[in-house]
Amino acid sequence: MTYDENNIFAKILRGEISCKKIYEDEFVLSFFDINPQKKIHALVIPKGKYINLDDFACKASEKEIVGLIKGLYTVAQKLNISSNTGKGYRALANISENGGQEVPHLHFHLFGGEKIGKMVE
Ligand code: AMP
Repeated sequence: MTYDENNIFAKILRGEISCKKIYEDEFVLSFFDINPQKKIHALVIPKGKYINLDDFACKASEKEIVGLIKGLYTVAQKLNISSNTGKGYRALANISENGGQEVPHLHFHLFGGEKIGKMVE
């Protein structure tokens, strides 16, 4: 599978579509989900062109991998949902067809601000 340059998150990264930005650094961009499923619903995406977590694990550099993990934590802290600034949250990545992934650019959902409930419905 090749990376689709015209997926919606690629367009957001190129600035062709706007987003409600939460945080940005060399490795990640974070913004609010357009269709929030919980009180707080943020997305964190790597800046590199990776289709999903498997693609990222195979191709990303160690710096990018560390950058994404640190980015998740930074965003959780900024939103006051991390385990040290708030009450915790759920990080979730849908991967490919059976995972229910709709946008083919790796992204983590961060859900918080309330009890998130059952892990799988
Ligand atoms: P997934 O099903 O894991 O691929 O999730 C894709 C997510 O992207 C969904 O929760 C959508 O609501 C969200 N989404 C789609 N387009 C946008 C957009 N333009 N800005 C922010 N979130 C979006």
